[in-house]
Amino acid sequence: MRILLIEDEAALARPLIEHLEADCHIVEWFGTLDEAESAIHVLEYDVVLLDLFLPDGDGLSFLTSIRGQRISTPVIILTARDKVSDRIKGLNLGADDYILKPFDLDEVKARIHTVCRRSADQKSQIIFIRDLRISLAEHSVSRDDQAIRLTAKEWGILETLVRRLSKIVPRENLEASIYAYGEEAESNALEAHISRLRAKLGKGLIITHRGMGYELVA
Ligand code: CA
Repeated sequence: MRILLIEDEAALARPLIEHLEADCHIVEWFGTLDEAESAIHVLEYDVVLLDLFLPDGDGLSFLTSIRGQRISTPVIILTARDKVSDRIKGLNLGADDYILKPFDLDEVKARIHTVCRRSADQKSQIIFIRDLRISLAEHSVSRDDQAIRLTAKEWGILETLVRRLSKIVPRENLEASIYAYGEEAESNALEAHISRLRAKLGKGLIITHRGMGYELVA
């Protein structure tokens, strides 16, 4: 695996690099965000290990910046900050995992494997339901090789239902997938989106469980 390590403390970086290289990983190490930002635009990495306190800024701003540019490389934050709020902030900004310093080298290795496996699984996630082909990685749905166009909100709802296939998903969970786009809740908005989804995807696919939620049936 090709790993981008962004860490300004050599005393931490060196043993980590040695350990990861011994495990046959390629590690590229930068001590500033500026250098790392240039590198990530040129090369593809399998995972980024990101320190938060760097000489030229906060690691979280780097994370925001790359996610804003749709760079989806998994990011594991390495930090001494042990406040829960910082951890949540990082995960909300698109980090995949967190490792608190001082860390155990084998733990870092294990986390890298877990995060990369998860990322690979997601990339390959294509689900066939009835005559539909749904790609979670591409955010696309097609029938007989014909793309079915969904709005961002329709996709958000469908994705949430697909991830819990054949289970009842409470309406709050589905609404959360719409609110994520930064809008206020409108009453009946969810019903309207689901009704359009049914029209596009076919009848009988999304079932209403009165007072409980919705279910996508396989
Ligand atoms: Ca640091």
